[in-house]
Amino acid sequence: MSSFWSLGIDRLSPYVPGEQPKVTDLVKLNTNESPDAPSPKVIEAIVAAAGEGLRRYPDPSSSALIAALATYHNVSNDQVFVGNGSDEVLAHAFYAFFRQPKPLLYPDISYSFYPVYAGLYDIDVRAIPLDENFAIEPADYVGDTGGVIIANPNAPTGRLLPLVAIEQIAEQNRHCAVLVDEAYIDFGGQSALGLVDRFDNILVVRTFSKSRSLAGLRVGYAVGSPALIDGLTRVKDSFNSYPLDSLAQAGAIASVADEAYFAESCQRVMRNREWLVAQLSKLGFDCLPSAANFVLASHSQNTAESIASKLREMKILVRHFRSERISEHLRISVGSEKECQALVAALSDIL
Ligand SMILES: *Cc1c(COP(=O)(O)O)cnc(C)c1O
Repeated sequence: MSSFWSLGIDRLSPYVPGEQPKVTDLVKLNTNESPDAPSPKVIEAIVAAAGEGLRRYPDPSSSALIAALATYHNVSNDQVFVGNGSDEVLAHAFYAFFRQPKPLLYPDISYSFYPVYAGLYDIDVRAIPLDENFAIEPADYVGDTGGVIIANPNAPTGRLLPLVAIEQIAEQNRHCAVLVDEAYIDFGGQSALGLVDRFDNILVVRTFSKSRSLAGLRVGYAVGSPALIDGLTRVKDSFNSYPLDSLAQAGAIASVADEAYFAESCQRVMRNREWLVAQLSKLGFDCLPSAANFVLASHSQNTAESIASKLREMKILVRHFRSERISEHLRISVGSEKECQALVAALSDIL
């Protein structure tokens, strides 16, 4: 608390990211990063961009990256917005669409940044409980709504909603923006991108951080109707004209171009996920069905907290949330084959 602060700063409850340890000898399964290196073509493009040109400002509208994404997703350029990580895209979307007289709806268990943005922008919210199997019930997302945001697959549950359910939620809420956060959609889900031409209220938000192994580059984007994209651009240009630096733009373009590398990496993560779930089940864990690069698991005999702290002593990090409904669960990122094996070996020792 400081007397220099503007009104309300003391009442913010900022997001707490998963630990990024300074030491490197840990098996890091706590923040859903990719176990794979970025494509070599991405590194090449970044190195090529790291030259004399850095004295110039980057392209403020990231037009080459937007064109590449538009072609990739078969939409027009005015249906794509890019930002400094999808977190920034989400923040701009909250500001542009969800400051309404009516509340924003989201699941009670979801990405914990949503309530943080709502708090920052004074947005009234209504948290809708997931059912007893941690599934979203689309029929609940109706009524006096100022907006809807869901992550699909949801985080940290990993559960996937079928496309018909997304369509139902959008149909029920034609009067407001429906944001679908697809941070994990590349690990086996069906995207809502195909719905944006029929539903001008759907905004699909994506990131390069998980499936494209580029969390450090900070690139995210949104696809939606030109009116939604225009709203985002107005906020962006009232905040920071240059959210993506030249290196990020070059690297992201190269990533979109290297489809084979991307597809293979996603396939590998999905294979490792199936193996990990089978092993965890043998060890007495109950795993929610996951369409993401992590699994949410609970153990019948041991508390989540004790397992997490014992893993930590063995230099393996997983994520434990304290919030009530999932305090007996661990969110475990799907690592490389070797990392998954190390985790299973450590758990066998512990249990
Ligand atoms: C990781 C994550 C993000 C943030 O991704 P960045 O692009 O790295 O900011 C957004 N939404 C969900 C659900 C995530 O898990």
